[in-house]
Amino acid sequence: MKRTHLCNALRPADAGKTVTLVGWVDTKRDLGGVTFVDLRDREGITQVVFRPGQGSLQENAQRLKSESVIEITGTVTARTADTVNPKLATGSIEVVASHLTVHNHCQDLPFPMDDDKADKVNEDLRLEYRYLDLRRPRNLGLLKLRHQAARAIRAEMDQQGFIEVETPTLFKSTPEGAREFLVPSRLNPGEFYALSQSPQQYKQMLMVAGVERYYQMARCYRDEDLRADRQPEFTQVDIEMSFIDREDMYALIEGILKRTWKETLGVDLPTPFPRMAYQEAMNRFGIDKPDTRFGLEIQDFTALFKNSAFKVFQTAANTPGSVVRAINAKGLADLTQGELTNLETIAKSQGAKGLAFIKCEGGEWKSPITKFFSPEEKAALEKQLNITDGDIIFFAAAPWEQASNILGRIRLESAALLKAKGRLSLPTDQYNFLWVIEFPLMLWDEEEKRYLSAHHPFTAPVVEDEPLLATDPAKVRGQHYDIVLNGVELGGGSIRIHNPVVQKRVFEDVLKIPQDIVESRFGYMLKAFSYGAPPHGGIALGFDRVVAMLAGRSSIRDIVAFPKTQRGQDLMAQTPGAVTPKQLRELRIRTVEEEPKA
Ligand code: ASP
Repeated sequence: MKRTHLCNALRPADAGKTVTLVGWVDTKRDLGGVTFVDLRDREGITQVVFRPGQGSLQENAQRLKSESVIEITGTVTARTADTVNPKLATGSIEVVASHLTVHNHCQDLPFPMDDDKADKVNEDLRLEYRYLDLRRPRNLGLLKLRHQAARAIRAEMDQQGFIEVETPTLFKSTPEGAREFLVPSRLNPGEFYALSQSPQQYKQMLMVAGVERYYQMARCYRDEDLRADRQPEFTQVDIEMSFIDREDMYALIEGILKRTWKETLGVDLPTPFPRMAYQEAMNRFGIDKPDTRFGLEIQDFTALFKNSAFKVFQTAANTPGSVVRAINAKGLADLTQGELTNLETIAKSQGAKGLAFIKCEGGEWKSPITKFFSPEEKAALEKQLNITDGDIIFFAAAPWEQASNILGRIRLESAALLKAKGRLSLPTDQYNFLWVIEFPLMLWDEEEKRYLSAHHPFTAPVVEDEPLLATDPAKVRGQHYDIVLNGVELGGGSIRIHNPVVQKRVFEDVLKIPQDIVESRFGYMLKAFSYGAPPHGGIALGFDRVVAMLAGRSSIRDIVAFPKTQRGQDLMAQTPGAVTPKQLRELRIRTVEEEPKA
């Protein structure tokens, strides 16, 4: 079976040629005794005409159902001016068929394949028939976009001297990270691999091995609760380099993203990207991945309320480590009671007792709390928050981090409401890239009563903060960086510790991991670091998120060929599923109905 042309190829200059085309029946119409079939392949659509009076040819064409696979031979004919279809690349010609072969009849479709209708079809049904859903030109376009992005990244990595190295996905369990998928080892009964959460440890070993510049389109696995921007298996552009500092990493990633945006969307990204310290991001935006496309920034009023008659604010303002902060959700005073309740629920999910607010309507401040405010307090709020009629002000009085989290969430939700009401518009081609830097190396965990790594335990401290490791770990900044785009974390990484003594100190003295566990989990790394480990650092970009941003999609399910649902299921292949007792016996595994008591 040989086609002579793709379905986007023929033009009036081809008139008179005999051609063979293959593809799917996109649509079929019978008009005035003539049958028209729009024939579609991966590249486009060509109109095929079946005229009466050619034996069974037209009858067979009339019986064709949408999405059947056919092959036609015919003659290219220029269309008359009044029948030209300017929407199609091939709209000035049609092929008058002389031969038809049906390679595969398509049954009645489970949902319409027309893009606008199909987009509204229940996602579970589309995932069950993912091969049909993918066949829609819009979705094939997303696969092409993903391919183009991967090609741009690979080209840039190659140009920069990186070697693509594959690392094992069957790794060992490292329980302090995300929850892992475990894989029983038949040859070592009772023992388990874990599917790699990331090639972190292997890529560091590659630096000790002298690879100097490594990258990999790495498949990673995390058994976490799923959301629109998370899949249980995903792809990272995983990178590690020797003999570099943070500036080298910023320049490399900016180059990769610049090339990717240029080669996929034709967009020129201005570089270098702005940078913001973690502290500033939390103070102004209440989150470590700020969306800087809009304002609604957080303002601090801790000093203002130190002597306030409003007890709640006064207490917080005088509690060390606590703050009184607010945002002005400009123009949102007319939100509904339901919307307000939802905001309150969000604040409470961040540990707030409630959500204090002031509505400014009809020249009046409407709020149960304003009666406690002095004229000076009111004036200061009005000035700093630029309050005008139609605004609503939300407050948080809490420890610094919690107040940031509360107002960070309220800010995003307010923006979403303003967007839905048509009062905030964010251009689809606005790309606010941002480096977030100077994260703390450690965060105190109240539950475990010990420090935990903010990124991972291999991140090096900022050199001048190293002495604080012994005295005040909370103050140590890490050489960690995140790359953020429009409020989405695209990736993160760090300069690593390459000195075995410092690494051991971080594990044992700071993170308080017992010595035997350090030995069993990381002993081989510490050993490797004593055999000529170069200074090194790296990063991982979430490739799925990069493609989703390029495609303007909020769900990464859209840009993964065979995604899993929020419950981690592949509805097409029906996985996960039960296995046979024999398989379990071989693995020496017994399943239990209920969760066993610990
Ligand atoms: N392995 C890290 C991650 O997956 C990234 C890095 O530090 O390179 O988040």
